[in-house]
Amino acid sequence: MRLKERRISPQEAVWLLALVLFCACTAPGQQQSDERAQESGVSPNLAQIIAQVRVHLPQHDRAATLEVASARGLEQVTRQGKLISDGSRLAPLLTFESPQGVRLSGVLHRGRLLVEPHPVSGLSVTVELALENYIEGVVAAELSLWSAEPAELEAQAIAARSYALGTLLRRRQRLGNPSLAKLEGGTQDQAYRGMFEPDSSKGSQAAARRLKTAVAKTRGQVLFIEGQPFAARYSAACGGHTAHLVQVFPSPIRAEAALTGAVCEGCVSRIAATGPEDPRGPLEWQTTFSSAELHQLARSLGLGSSLLRYELGQRDPSGRWLSVILVGERTTKEISAETLRAQLGHGRFRSTRIVSSWPHAGQAISAGLHFKGLGHGHGVGLCQQGARDAARRGWSAERILSGAYPGTEIRRL
Ligand SMILES: [Zn+2]
Repeated sequence: MRLKERRISPQEAVWLLALVLFCACTAPGQQQSDERAQESGVSPNLAQIIAQVRVHLPQHDRAATLEVASARGLEQVTRQGKLISDGSRLAPLLTFESPQGVRLSGVLHRGRLLVEPHPVSGLSVTVELALENYIEGVVAAELSLWSAEPAELEAQAIAARSYALGTLLRRRQRLGNPSLAKLEGGTQDQAYRGMFEPDSSKGSQAAARRLKTAVAKTRGQVLFIEGQPFAARYSAACGGHTAHLVQVFPSPIRAEAALTGAVCEGCVSRIAATGPEDPRGPLEWQTTFSSAELHQLARSLGLGSSLLRYELGQRDPSGRWLSVILVGERTTKEISAETLRAQLGHGRFRSTRIVSSWPHAGQAISAGLHFKGLGHGHGVGLCQQGARDAARRGWSAERILSGAYPGTEIRRL
């Protein structure tokens, strides 16, 4: 049987053509896009952070002049009251970029540089760069590339990536304005000083290759806890026993209570091998705070004009200080041990794993206060010293991280 033929009107033809084009162009694309979303599980918030991380470089806060090399060439940036100038432009904020990256005082940053007057003095510098470039810079600044093991570099890259994502997500929520959320390029968050550029020596070239390989191999790998990127804190050396996360950094995330401290074989064996008295050992430290420094501490904490003595506060089962009671000339206050570290300076009061003090707790302070301690940093999470030791014993990055952060899982975004 022959079907009756019907001619299509020009109007119908246009509609049919539009329908065919719509189906061809959008349906498969939409499907692919949905599949990608399911594979990656990346929310718009996370996608924005992966594309661009903002990092404040605290080391330049007091600089009066900066030398910046960008697509515009080499320029001297100076502060002029509430404005800054690069010779031709005068503005409250200047940006510098180049396809090859921008050099600040000779150091390469693979991103955009924002310079503005620092609120107190000097110039404030912020870098905007892709997450993976930032991670490369962090691993280079946090570890000694010349001697680092591949698994140690990989574990550090995953921990740094997780810390960046977890921390920035929280800050974006808290600030309300996502564009204001940034990380500090110092110990307040994690070290970042720019990209590692090898010289022509074989050792330096090999270190650069190991760094690139570790970051590329772990690309997009992030620790998750309770379905969210986990802000994985880590420290240089726990001094023999890591700290219980929520005892040092109180957190509303229930699963984080499971991150209790553990004996760290890397630090224990290092201490046993070099001895706590060995001045070459990075795990033992001692420092004396002068009377003037203690007066300043007392005043800044509202304790009066001087510190009379200190008393032991809370300690964890491994002996790490959690709090300390400071008795001032006017009043007494219990503060967290990490607050005391921040007040006296992380560089000198290197950890809260205190071995001894002079005068002892409870004794009158007359001429300064001497502390001896073990480790460097807050002691929570991954211990870099322990990770190095574990990597040398053949542990994989996954095994190192599951030991440092029990209850977390690695996902690839
Ligand atoms: Zn350790």
